[in-house]
Amino acid sequence: MTGLLVNINSSINPEGIVKGEYTDSWVYSYVHDIPVYLVDPDTMDKICPPEWSSGIPLEKKKGLDEIIDSFLNAPGEDIDEELDRVFRRIKEFRRTFVCDGVFIDQGPGYIDDHSVKYPAVFVTPERIHESSTKISRDTGYDVETVFRGLMKSAITHEYTHAFNWKLSNGVNTRRYSEEHVKIIEELIAQLTSYSNLSVMYRVFFTKKSTSQPLEYNTWKPFTALCRGFYSQCSYDLAYLWSKYMIRNKKPPIFEAISPLPPILLLLSAPIDPFILHELSVVFGYHRFFHRVIEPFIVRLYRGGRLDVEKYLKVLALLLLERAG
Ligand SMILES: [Zn+2]
Repeated sequence: MTGLLVNINSSINPEGIVKGEYTDSWVYSYVHDIPVYLVDPDTMDKICPPEWSSGIPLEKKKGLDEIIDSFLNAPGEDIDEELDRVFRRIKEFRRTFVCDGVFIDQGPGYIDDHSVKYPAVFVTPERIHESSTKISRDTGYDVETVFRGLMKSAITHEYTHAFNWKLSNGVNTRRYSEEHVKIIEELIAQLTSYSNLSVMYRVFFTKKSTSQPLEYNTWKPFTALCRGFYSQCSYDLAYLWSKYMIRNKKPPIFEAISPLPPILLLLSAPIDPFILHELSVVFGYHRFFHRVIEPFIVRLYRGGRLDVEKYLKVLALLLLERAG
């Protein structure tokens, strides 16, 4: 299978270069019906205007850490109000970034071409080629090899947003403007992209992320915690995240921090394939989440002061703090 790769107006036609490569990922099998359009930079800026795609510049991390640390070290009584305040401050750090890829759930109106079918992924090979040239200079690999790796990584990243969109009935896209949703959504897209790359392509991916905003660098601590099972790990996170969005209830994975012993969880859960799947994830990633979650979160959670939505907000803050 070669997937639906259509060049609309890009000056670089990578057909034959990336053919067969970007389809080699777990996410492709779920979204192979979603077309990937190649567009030039001007068209990309119409589809994904820079003012849409804001990010936190890496050089702002120190200032951001101070704000996050002061919250993490002394969480007060009104967690809701404090979280709102922290996320308002984070918003002030945001700057605009140009897009080299984007997933769009519905059209038309973004692009003047009636043959375009939505939902769709758009990628700008010119921008990816530009990054490839820089990375080629830094790593000594030839530009075309780097370009192939980064094309695959960009398409897989956008495919992950498409997968989450499918599984969450579009809730992930509708809630994307919420700070913590954006941070977790980008973590999953980046981790899935990394997971599906060869060792050599991961070198290029890692280099590229150093020129991207902070939320595109939260995947790094996860690679150590996934202990080599990157593909399974990224699938489980994407699946649970999407299902959480749609069900809007506490998924068992977050029970890993609850005081209930796992056996009680097992007995209290209705036995269906979905729950069984989630339980296997809970047991598999207990240590994984345990290491990500600070003890004070467990305290707040046990004290009934932290529901799942607040927990996810705190998790998003921790991800930013540990990124880079
Ligand atoms: Zn993304």
